[in-house]
Amino acid sequence: MKKTITTCDVCNKEAEVVSVNYPVVFHTEQNEGRACESYISQQKLDICEEYQQKLLMLDGWGAQGYNSYKIKEGK
Ligand SMILES: [Zn+2]
Repeated sequence: MKKTITTCDVCNKEAEVVSVNYPVVFHTEQNEGRACESYISQQKLDICEEYQQKLLMLDGWGAQGYNSYKIKEGK
């Protein structure tokens, strides 16, 4: 994974981060920030090592479009 040093979008600390498209549950519409029915939106997030451990919970294996996924076991 390509890593760069910048501000983590989750904890706002300067850190070595990776960029990911991550589904986020939003609770406001994006024009004026008014509360609305929750919806899922993919966002490009820079996340530090600590939050990679917390957020990236699916491991995958695959070839030629046939993939399998497994959720990480809790520690
Ligand atoms: Zn962070």
